[in-house]
Amino acid sequence: MRAVRLTASGQEPTLTEVERPAPRGEEVLVRVEAAGLCHSDLHVVDGPAGALPYRPPFTLGHEVAGHISALGPDADGPALGERVVLYGPWGCGDCARCTTGRDNYCDRRGELGWHGVGLGRDGGMAEYVLVPFARHLVPIGDLPADQAAPLSDAGLTSYHAIAGLRHALGDGTTAAVIGVGGLGHLAIQILRATTPSSVLAVDIREEALALAHRTGAHFATLIQADTARALRAQTGGVGVDAVLDFVGNATTLELATEVLRPGGELAVVGSAGGRLTVRKPGVLPPGFRLSLPFWGTRPELAEVIALARSGALHVETEQFPLSGAPEAFGRLRQGQVRGRAVLVPD
Ligand code: NAD
Ligand code: ZN
Ligand code: ZN
Repeated sequence: MRAVRLTASGQEPTLTEVERPAPRGEEVLVRVEAAGLCHSDLHVVDGPAGALPYRPPFTLGHEVAGHISALGPDADGPALGERVVLYGPWGCGDCARCTTGRDNYCDRRGELGWHGVGLGRDGGMAEYVLVPFARHLVPIGDLPADQAAPLSDAGLTSYHAIAGLRHALGDGTTAAVIGVGGLGHLAIQILRATTPSSVLAVDIREEALALAHRTGAHFATLIQADTARALRAQTGGVGVDAVLDFVGNATTLELATEVLRPGGELAVVGSAGGRLTVRKPGVLPPGFRLSLPFWGTRPELAEVIALARSGALHVETEQFPLSGAPEAFGRLRQGQVRGRAVLVPD
């Protein structure tokens, strides 16, 4: 079968022929219908050797939907042909976190050498993907695969980040989304569907601002010298109750702390390498709280899929054949993807 493989960090992934895996024990083989391309894939490809604990070669692709193609003799649960999405942040499988569906915060994460499917373990940018346990599969019914795949990371990570600061998003509050790409355009929809907050959006691309408006943002602006003032003006001057930063560079972290209301919440999701210095006394808003959410839990993935099936979430996608992976990576790198790029085996 064909697979998009990372052979060494710092090198472009290549489309190569590998053997189709056969499920053993509790493993399940999934025939891939769609695999999303995340900005994290670029961080993985471009990152300096040793920055991540992975040991290439492995197949990329951590947002995967498909149907059950074969079951190991001890696999429990799904039926052949059932359509599923993969819960991706595989952990050790045994610790208190993993056994309660919170593999994203596996107690042994530091020892594992991987972060999940397609992140150190063979992923779904291929014709088939091997899943270690059936419990990592969430049924999707008739949800289209190009919708379901991105929901397993872009959707789930946004949902989990918002869940962590939901207490700050009651009536009359304001949330700001920085970076309206794959994750950000879903975060806007999740905020609109699950909170009464007014939603402000920030990006460096006009096209992303149009996407923000289409997905329900009340206000959208380019990031520039007076953006903090423009955002504050939208809150009547008090500041923003919660900021979701899907970029995470020095500029966006500074903007986030400039616009936060006292007691506000900042969730940094993006991995662009920015730093935030805590100094007391200092200029950070009093009482502000910082979270660094990673992916999401298995029950939350089921909630995201249910939300999408109810019609509340729509992933804006650009589809590419699996053989067009190099073009898709190139377009993402140049900031030309609208919403999410999705690879479909051809
Ligand atoms: P994306 O490329 O689809 O979207 C990023 C958006 O940010 C684009 O619209 C881009 O124009 C915008 N942007 C870039 N620089 C900006 C700036 N200085 N100010 C404002 N906007 C800017 O990326 P994505 O797939 O949505 O991922 C976003 C980030 O989240 C990446 O860093 C990715 O690695 C990270 N991520 C983290 C987790 C997690 O669990 N914490 C999960 C998935 C992705
Ligand atoms: Zn991702
Ligand atoms: Zn664990």
